[in-house]
Amino acid sequence: MTKSTVDLTIVGSIGIDTIETPVEKKEEILGGSVSYACAAASFFAHTGMVGVVGTDFPQEFLETWKNMSIDLEGLQIVEGKTFRWSGVYEENMDNRRTLSTELNVFETFSPELPEDYREAPYLFLGNIHPALQLHVLEQVRNPEFILIDTMDLWINIDKEDLVKVIGKCHMLTLNESEAQLFTGEHTLGQAARKLLELGPEYVLIKKGGNGSTLFTRADTFLLHAYPLESFKDPTGAGDTFAGGFMGALAASGRTDKEAIRQAMVYGSIVASFGVEEFSLDRLKQLDRDQIENRVETFKAMCRL
Ligand code: AMP
Repeated sequence: MTKSTVDLTIVGSIGIDTIETPVEKKEEILGGSVSYACAAASFFAHTGMVGVVGTDFPQEFLETWKNMSIDLEGLQIVEGKTFRWSGVYEENMDNRRTLSTELNVFETFSPELPEDYREAPYLFLGNIHPALQLHVLEQVRNPEFILIDTMDLWINIDKEDLVKVIGKCHMLTLNESEAQLFTGEHTLGQAARKLLELGPEYVLIKKGGNGSTLFTRADTFLLHAYPLESFKDPTGAGDTFAGGFMGALAASGRTDKEAIRQAMVYGSIVASFGVEEFSLDRLKQLDRDQIENRVETFKAMCRL
């Protein structure tokens, strides 16, 4: 068996986004779940990206990933147009409406992992069709820790495959409304209990600006969000959280509950930076020192 050169493999969508907030509109910016997640993970671990773009994909975006030392061997560049998505945020930035989705090359995407990505000990299945997530699991060789994310679309149209793939993962992450939609339960505790019955050891429920909660069969861990005075664009915050979390966990080399709690703090802090600007603009300027400083400030805020 060859040893993997990447510590963490991340699979997901790559999009060219157009985003409108109450104060600003940005067109054709770099987005997608795997882009946010790999950028966040890159501060901690050697990360391999699995996704697809079209031949129209700007070189500048590829350079952004390369400058973050993200491994791009798993990136497919195929003839056609890149996936495009546009959305608009309401006044309070809590609610978002999708204006358009153009699948383009994403429609026929089949994630194929380079040989060494298959050996990576950590795997994050970002938000893509659950049948594709299952296809990834057929290729990997016994990762130590697998995190899976999803979205309301798959809960609504392919719950069967979703249940199957969740059962093969160590941890599931969902936002509050998705957990409620999935289980029909209103309280997060009840929803988490049902989700744990599907097989994962950990269920992480994200609550946007209200933080996140980690459920296991034995206990619960509450994590506040870092209190920002202002932010520009919450797009991809969940993916940034998950990517930062997986990167920090991979860097620890552990998968136990204490390591998971610590990694959640890193995921949350990197996500707090990410939303300060659109796309990867803030993450491009970020370094480990800034992350560690904010982690310390955050811990001081939580101390009893
Ligand atoms: P989030 O804010 O976590 O929902 O992630 C936003 C990112 O998801 C955007 O950058 C989009 O490019 C991407 N996205 C939007 N719709 C989809 C979809 N149906 N499947 C996969 N990715 C999507």
